[in-house]
Amino acid sequence: MNTWSIDDARELYGIQRWGNGYFDINSDGEAAVLLRDGEKSVSVSLQKIIDGLRERGSAMPQLLRFRDLLDRRIEHLNESFLSAIKATKYRGNYQGVYPIKVNQQQQVIEEITDFGKKYHYGLEAGSKPELIAALAYMHDPNAFLICNGYKDTEFIDLALRATQMGLRVILVLEMPGELPAIIERSNTLGIRPELGIRFRLSTKSEGHWAESGGDRSVFGLNSSQLIDAVDLLKDAGFLDCLKLFHYHQGSQLPNIRAIREAATEAVRVFVNLAQEGAPMEILDMGGGLAVDYDGTHSNAASSCNYSLTEYASNLIEVVQHHCDAAQLPHPTLVTESGRAVVAHYSVLVFNILDVTRFSHPDCPEPPSPECHEMVHNLWDIRNRIQPNNLQVCFNDALFYRDQVRDLFRHGVINLRERSLAEKIYWHLCTQIAEQTQKLDHVPDDLQTLESNLIDFYYANFSVFQSLPDSWAIQQLFPIMPIHRLDTEPTQRAILADITCDCDGKVDRFIHRDTISTFLQVHEKLPGEEYNIAAFLVGAYQETLGDLHNLLGDPHVVSVGLEDGELTYTHEVEGDSVADVLSYVEYDPRELEKRFRSFAERAVRKGTISASQRKSIMQAYKTGLNGYTYYEDE
Ligand SMILES: *Cc1c(COP(=O)(O)O)cnc(C)c1O
Repeated sequence: MNTWSIDDARELYGIQRWGNGYFDINSDGEAAVLLRDGEKSVSVSLQKIIDGLRERGSAMPQLLRFRDLLDRRIEHLNESFLSAIKATKYRGNYQGVYPIKVNQQQQVIEEITDFGKKYHYGLEAGSKPELIAALAYMHDPNAFLICNGYKDTEFIDLALRATQMGLRVILVLEMPGELPAIIERSNTLGIRPELGIRFRLSTKSEGHWAESGGDRSVFGLNSSQLIDAVDLLKDAGFLDCLKLFHYHQGSQLPNIRAIREAATEAVRVFVNLAQEGAPMEILDMGGGLAVDYDGTHSNAASSCNYSLTEYASNLIEVVQHHCDAAQLPHPTLVTESGRAVVAHYSVLVFNILDVTRFSHPDCPEPPSPECHEMVHNLWDIRNRIQPNNLQVCFNDALFYRDQVRDLFRHGVINLRERSLAEKIYWHLCTQIAEQTQKLDHVPDDLQTLESNLIDFYYANFSVFQSLPDSWAIQQLFPIMPIHRLDTEPTQRAILADITCDCDGKVDRFIHRDTISTFLQVHEKLPGEEYNIAAFLVGAYQETLGDLHNLLGDPHVVSVGLEDGELTYTHEVEGDSVADVLSYVEYDPRELEKRFRSFAERAVRKGTISASQRKSIMQAYKTGLNGYTYYEDE
């Protein structure tokens, strides 16, 4: 009797908890994204999107981008601050900036500068290349262009020229050593800069990036360096240029209490800088606004115990309180929220190529009478399995299986017989594991049994290329099948990617409201393309990804709605084999030449015919121009 419903699937994968109203499961049992089409919000099946791409001849894996979600995140961030400002009667503005490093793709910067215009939403550049990109896109004279990172003369000059052209470019001091260069370049070019100072808070935060804050952080000035800088600015006649105070506590801050504590320390410094005589008008509170990847709304590393509205009102209250106490005007607030703006934007979809089963619910063939008695002994265990003797049955199964392996080593039985014995053994384990679910207390030996029965699902993507944080810092991403969700997923699996690296796997998943070592999946049907998606991958993953095993960028496409119709735009073809080989300094033409002369020698030796050489060369060239991932024509 199948009582499985779509609500059960929602509950199992937690899609409504982490989906934030952007993702859900539709009545056909397919994962869906909710996109705006004019005034309407329309549910679009991810499987239908993939079907459309498949019809167009595009291969898996695919990185889907939803510009509508990016726009809604920008809107949500800005509106949250604006309404918190209203509610608290704060007398300053909010004017956020997007930190380019979180997703530097041209399309993202274009969309952010375009859609963000109505909020005077700006950009944060942490390096010369980022500044150069920003200057081509950000031309709003009211938005900030905040320059963090280490600055050489070239960087400083560019920023000053942009100031001269009417942009609000703010040079933020990261190191004391930068100040003399900035003063010198400003004097030489005769341009008054807008300056900021980055402070190293002593308040420690939590989560993966705890070290980005605190005394030992590598970024920013400590309090004595800060005072030195103020004195230097005074002496050089530049104190009137110092307008912004900046701190960055680290990324993915799960706990609102730590955020409040850091803000408190920061505002106190801000107030003091104003009291030193600097015209402080902007308080830049950095990044750190977290994404609730696991949907638990807790202070776990992959979650956060606050909403965006709570984040905004907490920051505003702290600033308001301390500025009022010091009788200072309320500053313009800036956050450099990156992750929270772009994470929802991208979804990676990949197909399952193959499965290795460990669980064997189906009973194997009985051993023939000629089989060794040890195989028969193993077979007989199956009739004895009862909830009250599971431990004994498991011990026996293990014992006879090892006996069979010994017999094989000694040449007594053949591989065919051994294979049958192993099959029977896994079947017994499956049955025993099933029975343990009925027990109140599971014996230690049997607790690990279940984890040994988890299948491998071989997934057509590279963890190193597309989910690097899952490998590098064990970050959790929501992952689930995108179809067949109206039927119960009966298998437990970990995902193995197609790199030949034993770290190339995902084995941490959201499972109801906990984290599990397996993903509940459907049995892969013969001839069916079984598709799985990793969600909330828009932040950091694309450019942190690397070419391990020379697996390149996947295909990328932007998906939207226009008059009720799906639109596929901004398609970027993934790397070809020739592309990735040239990244590691091979010349594709040279490769072809070398292989061709090898083939020609084979023709001369008579190993292959001349016409065979033709088709072999064709295959080589097709391979060179093809996708780096597994292609099924
Ligand atoms: C990385 C970084 C950010 C972005 O942080 P998120 O946690 O993604 O919001 C902001 N500011 C600075 C200085 C950064 O280095």
